[in-house]
Amino acid sequence: MYSIPISDPRIRELITWYLRTLQKAIDIIWENIEWRYRFPRIERRKRRQVVIIPSKFKVPELPKSRSFKRKLRDELLLDCPYAKHWVDAVIRTAYSIIESWRKRYLRGRARKVKPRVKKRFARCKITLMKIDYKAKTIRITLKPGEYLVISWRAMWYEYRVEGWRVGEVILKDDRILIPFKSTRIIEVRDVVAWDSNELSLDGFSPRIGFIRVDLKPLQSMKITYERKKRIAQSKDLKDIYEKYVVRERNRERDFINKLTSGLTRLFPNTTHVFENLEKEDLIRRKKTPRNRRKRNARTPWKIIHKKISEKAIIAKVPPKDTSRNCPRCGYVAKTRVGRVFKCPRCGFELDRQKLASINIYLKYSKMRGFPHSNDLEEAVKGELWVGVTPSGRSPVIWIPMKRDPEGSEAKERGLDIKLYQAQ
Ligand SMILES: [Zn+2]
Repeated sequence: MYSIPISDPRIRELITWYLRTLQKAIDIIWENIEWRYRFPRIERRKRRQVVIIPSKFKVPELPKSRSFKRKLRDELLLDCPYAKHWVDAVIRTAYSIIESWRKRYLRGRARKVKPRVKKRFARCKITLMKIDYKAKTIRITLKPGEYLVISWRAMWYEYRVEGWRVGEVILKDDRILIPFKSTRIIEVRDVVAWDSNELSLDGFSPRIGFIRVDLKPLQSMKITYERKKRIAQSKDLKDIYEKYVVRERNRERDFINKLTSGLTRLFPNTTHVFENLEKEDLIRRKKTPRNRRKRNARTPWKIIHKKISEKAIIAKVPPKDTSRNCPRCGYVAKTRVGRVFKCPRCGFELDRQKLASINIYLKYSKMRGFPHSNDLEEAVKGELWVGVTPSGRSPVIWIPMKRDPEGSEAKERGLDIKLYQAQ
C-alpha cells in the first residue's frame, strides 16, 4: 500500500458524507438482522457422542435478499450528491463491517453491540476509477462529470511498482492509499530444504548442493545482550534493563529482515522447506540436555520462518528422525553422536550437519510425491502474489555466505549432489 498526499476540501466533504451514509447503512442492516435460535446438537462420531453446539443460543442472519438490498440502495440514494457507485461502495463496506462483527460474535469475541464507524476513510470502487498505467494516473469520479485526478509519477515508489496493478483506493483526509499488486504468477522451480541449527542455517537443494548460512553474528549479539541484561538486573536497574530489551529486539529484527530478504533474493522462485519446530520441541524435550535446549531457544526460528513465509513459499515437514536417518537406505541409526554420520547398514557417510537438510528435502519430496530419481527437474507450480509492505523496505545488505566451491562430488540416490565445503 502506497500513498499520495493530497489536500482537497472536496475529499474531506466526500469522506464526511461517506461515513454518515455508511453508519446509516449499518443501522438499517442491523435493524433487519434476523436472530435465529440454534439448538444443541449431539452427534455420534466413532462410537462417541460429540456435542457440536453446547447450548441454545441466537445466531444473527444478515438480510441478503435482493429486494432488501434494492430498498437499502434507494434509501441511501435519497441523500447522495455523488455518483451512484459511491452508494454501492458504502453498502459493500457496511456489509463487510457487519460480517466481520458477526464472525467475531460467533466466536465469542464481540458483544451484541452495533458496530460504529470511527475512523475517517472512504473506500472507492473500481467502477469509480479509471487507471492509466502509461500516464500513471488514477481518475476518481466524484460526481457525474466531476473528477479527481491523482498520479503516482515522481513518487519515490514509481519504479518499484512498475507493471503492477492498482487495486481499490482508500481516501483519507490528507492522503490517498493505493494498493498495488504484483500479478505475476511465479513459477516455483527450486526447493531448498533448511535445517535450523543454533549457529547456522543449513540448506540442501538438488540444484545447488549444500548451503550454509552463518548465524554467529546473531548469536553473539544475543549473548552480549543477555550479559548486559543480567548485569542490569543484578543491580536492579529497571530502565536500563528495558532499554537493552528493546535494543536487542530491534537488532534481532534487523538481522532477520536482512537475512530473509537476502535468502529470498538469492533463491528466487523457490520453496523453502523447514522442520515443524513445535513438534520437535515435544519430541526432543527429554533427550536434549537443558543447556542445549536453552541455546536452541535463543535462535528465533519462528520469526525467521514467518519472515521467509512473507516473502516466499514455505513448506513444513515433521522433524522425526531427520538427524539420524540414512538418506540412502532409510536406516534409522540409534545414536546421534559424532560429527560424521555413518550408516551401519549401507556404509553411507556424511557430515552430520548436512544430514538433516538432505533428509528434510527427501521428506518433502516424498510428501509431494516426487520420485527420488533424476526426475527432480519436475517443476512445482505455485501461485504467489507479492504484496507491498506498508512502510516500504530499506535497502538490504546481504550477509555473506561462507562457501567454498571446491569440494567433492557425490552421486547419491540418483541425485547429482555437489558437496560444498562449508567453513
Ligand atoms: Zn544406509
